[in-house]
Amino acid sequence: MLKDQDRIFTNIYGMHDRTLKGARARGHWDGTGDIIKKGRDWIVEQMKASGLRGRGGAGFPTGLKWSFMPKESDGRPAYLVVNADESEPGTCKDREIMRHDPHTLIEGCLIASFAMNAHASYIYLRGEYIREREALQAAIDECYDAGLLGRNAAGSGWDFDLYLHHGAGAYICGEETALLESLEGKKGMPRMKPPFPAGAGLYGCPTTVNNVESIAVAPTILRRGPEWFAGFGRPNNTGTKLFAISGHVNKPCVVEEEMSISFKELIDKHCGGIRGGWKNLKGVIPGGSSVPVLRAETMEDAIMDFDWLREQRSGLGTAAVIVMDQSTDMVKAIWRLSKFYKHESCGQCTPCREGTGWMMRVLERMVHGDAAVEEIEMLLDVTKQVEGHTICALGDAAAWPIQGLIRNFRDEIEDRIKGRGVAATIAAQ
Ligand code: SF4
Repeated sequence: MLKDQDRIFTNIYGMHDRTLKGARARGHWDGTGDIIKKGRDWIVEQMKASGLRGRGGAGFPTGLKWSFMPKESDGRPAYLVVNADESEPGTCKDREIMRHDPHTLIEGCLIASFAMNAHASYIYLRGEYIREREALQAAIDECYDAGLLGRNAAGSGWDFDLYLHHGAGAYICGEETALLESLEGKKGMPRMKPPFPAGAGLYGCPTTVNNVESIAVAPTILRRGPEWFAGFGRPNNTGTKLFAISGHVNKPCVVEEEMSISFKELIDKHCGGIRGGWKNLKGVIPGGSSVPVLRAETMEDAIMDFDWLREQRSGLGTAAVIVMDQSTDMVKAIWRLSKFYKHESCGQCTPCREGTGWMMRVLERMVHGDAAVEEIEMLLDVTKQVEGHTICALGDAAAWPIQGLIRNFRDEIEDRIKGRGVAATIAAQ
C-alpha cells in the first residue's frame, strides 16, 4: 500500500487549503525556477527515465511524447494543450486534481511547456465541470499575482501564459484532435492523422496534448527523481496512479495508489470490500467504459496495470474501475454504454455513425431476449467491422464493451434469448 509520504496528490479529498499558500505548504511550487534552469533536455530525459505512461487512457510514454516536439522553432509557436475534458463514464479522477489540488496541474503546465518550447498552454475543460473551472481559474489568478505565471514565470526566465478554455459538454472533444478543432472555434470533429499534433496541431503549430494527471505528476517526479517514481509498480508500468472506483463496492472512492496493486488489495483496503462480499462479485470494467468487461474469476487475481489487463484483453484505460455485483443485468449495462457511444458519435465516418446505432439496437433487443442466438455472432462481426475502421478511437470504444460482453458473458445473452423462447412457447400453448 502506498505510504502517505509518497503521495503526489496530498489534497485529493479537499481536506486542506487548496490555495497557493496551502499548496506551497505541501511542497508544491518548490524550486520550480531551478528545475526549469536545468534545461529542456534534462527535463525530458528525467521524464523518460521515470517511465511515466500517459494517464488519459492510451498509456503512451509521456517523456517520449514530449521529445517529439521540434527542438528548434521554424517560426511557428509551440503549444501544450491539457486534456481536461474528462467525460468517459466511470472516470472522475482529474476533477479531484482540478478542484482540490489545482496547483499541481498549473506548476506542471509551466514545466512541461518549457520542456516543449511553448510559451502558452491551454487547459480544455469539460463543459459540465463548473466548480472545477472556478477552482482552477482562482488558482491561475493567484499564480499570475505571485509571478509564477506571466513574464519570467517563477523566476525561471521563461515567459509563459496559461489559458483555461471551457468546453460545451461533448464527449468527442476529449479526442485530442477534436479537442484542437473545438479550441480553434470549430465543430469538435476528429481530424485525420497524420499529420500528428506534434507536427501540426493547434492553429497548425506543433502541439502536445496531455492528460491532466500526466502533467500534474511531472513537478513531483522532477523534484523527487525519476528513480523514486519508477520504484513503484512493475517494469513498464511504473509510478503512482489515481484509481477511481465506483459501483458495487461498500465505499466508492478516488485514491492514489501504487501502480500494479492487486485488485483485491485496492478494493479491500480502500473501498471496504465488494457489496455482499467477494462471492457476490460478477464482473468489472477495469479502466473506464470503453475497455472490455472481465469476469469475477479473472479479476480476483488481477494486477491493476497496463500490461496485465491488456493480457486479459481488457485495459487499464483511465483506471476508472466499475465494479458490478450479481444483481447486475450485464446485457443491459453494456447496452447502456452502447447508447452512450451512439449518442456521442460525431457522425463523420460511416462505420461509427451507422454501426453504433446498429449495435445499440441489436443489444436493446437482446436485453429483452428478443433475438436469435445466431445474432450474437453477427453482432460480434459488426463490432469487428467498426473496430479499426474509423477516423478516431470512438469506434473502438463503442466496439470493445460489446466484444467484452460477448467474450465473457455470452452465456447470459444466450440464457436471455432461450428463456424468452421458452416463455413464448409456454404462452402460445
Ligand atoms: Fe466521429 Fe465516430 Fe468517426 Fe470518431 S469514429 S470521427 S466519433 S464518426
